[in-house]
Amino acid sequence: MSLLAGRYVHISTAISMTLGCDRHTGWVTVMAGEQIPLGPRLNPAQQQILDELGSTTRPTFRDDLRDHLRHELEVSIRPFADDYPDGTLFVSKRRLTMIHGCEARFVADEAEPFEWSIASARGTIAHKAIELLIGRRGTPTPLDLVHDALDRLEAEERSIGAFIAQLGEAERADLVSSVNDVVATFMDTFPPISRKWVPVSESRVRADLCDDSVVLQGAVDLSLGRARGNEAGKVLIDYKTGRPNMSHIEDLRFYALLETLKIGIPPRLVVSYYLEAGQPRTEAVTEELLWSTAMRVVDAVEKLVAVTQRPAQKSPGIGCRWCPIAADCDEGTAFLAELDDEDGVGANP
Ligand code: SF4
Repeated sequence: MSLLAGRYVHISTAISMTLGCDRHTGWVTVMAGEQIPLGPRLNPAQQQILDELGSTTRPTFRDDLRDHLRHELEVSIRPFADDYPDGTLFVSKRRLTMIHGCEARFVADEAEPFEWSIASARGTIAHKAIELLIGRRGTPTPLDLVHDALDRLEAEERSIGAFIAQLGEAERADLVSSVNDVVATFMDTFPPISRKWVPVSESRVRADLCDDSVVLQGAVDLSLGRARGNEAGKVLIDYKTGRPNMSHIEDLRFYALLETLKIGIPPRLVVSYYLEAGQPRTEAVTEELLWSTAMRVVDAVEKLVAVTQRPAQKSPGIGCRWCPIAADCDEGTAFLAELDDEDGVGANP
């Protein structure tokens, strides 16, 4: 037997992977005796992600799911939308999460002008660098991608351009170094993305409801695959920094709903991909998940309209730590003091 015999796999094995690639060798046998390289060999972390994202199971969904979802959303939302005083009501994943937290914090947050920080710029530059990686030919290094991302964003007329431009040399070098770490981790842990997987960065999703008076919108960091007929095939991926959080899962459920309203077939899987840890958290998309997400959207629209007509309610929680009006909020101050007592903050050693 050839020494290489164990390094080949029959092509049917490779084809059966939705995101297709041989499991361990990077080689396939095409026809009797003919072997071709399929791509680079994967390290264990990359293989784990391929195993989690790839699947031979493609759920099917009924033809009229999109119409039913849209109809129920519009019937439920319209009474609130009619009361909204400011024209079109836009609903993004951030507004959804914030309004379902503390209404008073939501109102205060929206009144504050957004200001870039090193932490927020870091996430945006990392997203841009990965977007460039996916669109680019050849094998750029993480540092090439970070510098290109920084240059492109600096040239943009958006506020991040001005923020990057005013950084001192040392701050800029620190930023490059920390984003480089994130991008290098992505390249070390995510399998190389084949064009055959139909990758799309910053894929826009949007649903105009109730005669355009309510717009649900977002942009998916990365989508892979596509539906075939009524068979779901797309995987939606959102890059996340920091620790896993329930709101990350809700973000992706919202995108799954918008994707369904857009093309009629839901994605197969949604994935929060944690850039620092190089770990995915996946969730299969079901019809029940879409209906519960639709109801969450309806509740959010009701609250978004309500806070324009009555005082916003306070709901103390962990979000008090980042609330711009925490110092003037008795409920939030008391909550944080209790939390610190439980954590032993301020206790004598
Ligand atoms: S401090 Fe807490 S309870 Fe008070 S407004 Fe802010 S988030 Fe709400």
